[in-house]
Amino acid sequence: MLPWVVRRTRLPLLSLRCVDCPSGSATTGPGRFRVNANHKLLDVWLLVRCVSCDRTSKLTVYERTPVRSFDPAELRGYRLNDPALVASRLLDPQLARRNRFALDWTGAWRLHTPSEGPDQTWPVQVAVAFDDPVPVRPERLIAHGLGLSRGEVLRRIKCDIPLRRPRSTGFTFTVTAGD
Ligand SMILES: [Zn+2]
Repeated sequence: MLPWVVRRTRLPLLSLRCVDCPSGSATTGPGRFRVNANHKLLDVWLLVRCVSCDRTSKLTVYERTPVRSFDPAELRGYRLNDPALVASRLLDPQLARRNRFALDWTGAWRLHTPSEGPDQTWPVQVAVAFDDPVPVRPERLIAHGLGLSRGEVLRRIKCDIPLRRPRSTGFTFTVTAGD
């Protein structure tokens, strides 16, 4: 079984309309949170800025949440702008739903494939794993990974999942011999 891995190369951009300019794209940059305390309640925002005019927007991570309900280590991470926490919050689908943006993964990920030996015999089984939740069309990923045309993919690939529907969770497929 050949292991393939989909992994991000950087954080994705956000498809988010700017209120000041026509741009629809924002970035976390290096990643910054803002924590605001009001009595015993905390607001936590993730700051993003427009890629065109630099206007900063605040994405709500927590709103008026009791301080005691936070894990102290996590709260310290927000205060220190911990990069791992920036990534995990940004990639959390709940944040996107709540703040009405979509992630733009264009150019932000790579497919890692092992280099095959010359004694490749068919059929070959491949297991695709996702280190990051990048939505990809299996058909295109397989064509890219094997250097096949889309037509060849349809003829030579055996797979239990729909090849055209984007997904971001692991799957396996079998490549049969060509003509
Ligand atoms: Zn803007």
